[in-house]
Amino acid sequence: MSKSLQAIRGMNDILPEQTPLWRYFEGTVARLLDNYGYKQIRMPIVEFTELFKRSIGEVTDIVEKEMYTFEDRNGDSLTLRPEGTAACVRAVLEHGLTGGGQPQKLWYIGPMFRHERPQKGRYRQFHQIGLEVFNLDGPDIDAELIVLTWRLWGMLGIRDAVKLELNSLGTSESRGRYREALVEFLSGHLDKLDEDSQRRLKTNPLRVLDTKNAETQAVLVDAPKMADYLDEESRIHFEGLKARLDAAGIPYVINPKLVRGLDYYSKTVFEWVTDKLGAQGTVCAGGRYDGLVEQMGGKPTTGVGFAMGIERLILLLETLEQVPEEISRQVDVYFCAFGEAAELAALALSEKLRDQLPNLRLQVNAGAGSFKSQFKKADKSGALYALILGDDELAQQVVSFKPLRGQGEQQSIAFDALTAHLATCIVQG
Ligand code: ATP
Ligand code: MG
Repeated sequence: MSKSLQAIRGMNDILPEQTPLWRYFEGTVARLLDNYGYKQIRMPIVEFTELFKRSIGEVTDIVEKEMYTFEDRNGDSLTLRPEGTAACVRAVLEHGLTGGGQPQKLWYIGPMFRHERPQKGRYRQFHQIGLEVFNLDGPDIDAELIVLTWRLWGMLGIRDAVKLELNSLGTSESRGRYREALVEFLSGHLDKLDEDSQRRLKTNPLRVLDTKNAETQAVLVDAPKMADYLDEESRIHFEGLKARLDAAGIPYVINPKLVRGLDYYSKTVFEWVTDKLGAQGTVCAGGRYDGLVEQMGGKPTTGVGFAMGIERLILLLETLEQVPEEISRQVDVYFCAFGEAAELAALALSEKLRDQLPNLRLQVNAGAGSFKSQFKKADKSGALYALILGDDELAQQVVSFKPLRGQGEQQSIAFDALTAHLATCIVQG
């Protein structure tokens, strides 16, 4: 196929055989969030570039090198959203959703775009489910975000494969003091820092803590510790969070080097990581961002949130073989009809069945075909039962009901009795 007719590198089709797992995952999360009282919000996929520069920060990987930015026909600079928080805050401000200090517990789902090097678990179009909570500033809500993800891992059967890492970045004042101490320390070891870290030392020094370079990591062993610079308020907040996680029985490890890539975090930061997916091991990440709303022109409004990467979680479900078998069966009953008269009767009957059994997953054969070919299609559809209608059946006003997966014998059922019969066979979900 010519290059121009292929999908863009790092942007994937999600094929029909994969969508059942996506829908199972998304449905599970949506139900969970409903149950915890979160409300869904849907933002556009494209925003003014300025929004992301202002919120994410100019000297971050995302803004420096990962954004899909283009000029539209009006000459405005627009960007495909690389994450959801910025747009969510923008929407909340634009519509006054946090006016008067009103709390909001929101969630969103959708594609995000970053120009990264595509590899397993890292794509240029990927999908996130994110939560953002506004105007609740205590450790109780930080704990709730973590507790509900823990419940989700339990529902999905992946609890044993993920680990919670936790840190506190303090307030922007205490982080500022720490940043100074770190810069002073690292400046004394410039020659041992990798190139990226040398650059970050000038632009975003906390990100040096995040380095994968062994030599730089060795230098960091003796670096000042963020915990020693934590202000009292942040320390108490962090203790409050840990006490709640302990009470809920959720295991965690403190990772003093956890800083997160985005500029806007304060106090709590956390990541759920797995060692089952190679280098792309973070499946969910977030934290508190008390200064962001104000930085974006709103009244002081606290915020906390996280985003999970759907592709990575789907990969994890597959790797751990936690894909429920029943999700891939999408047909209960397959209707085979032979000849024009039977086809017409089958159509009428099918619509009656759909009226009376609204959850029935009924596939009517299309494109006619011999007994053999229709039967093959019935079997391939995954249906549990086939209905068969030919001239003989039609004359007697019955259909043949045939179990396809070995649950009993074929039998004739009168048109009138069909609904009642199917109702006993099919679980009405
Ligand atoms: P990473 O360190 O892996 O680059 P990040 O810190 O850039 O992640 P966030 O911006 O916090 O990621 O996004 C939250 C989650 O979204 C990540 O933990 C991950 O699961 C997922 N994610 C981020 N970037 C990608 C990507 N390019 N492809 C697939 N999933 C991604
Ligand atoms: Mg990244």
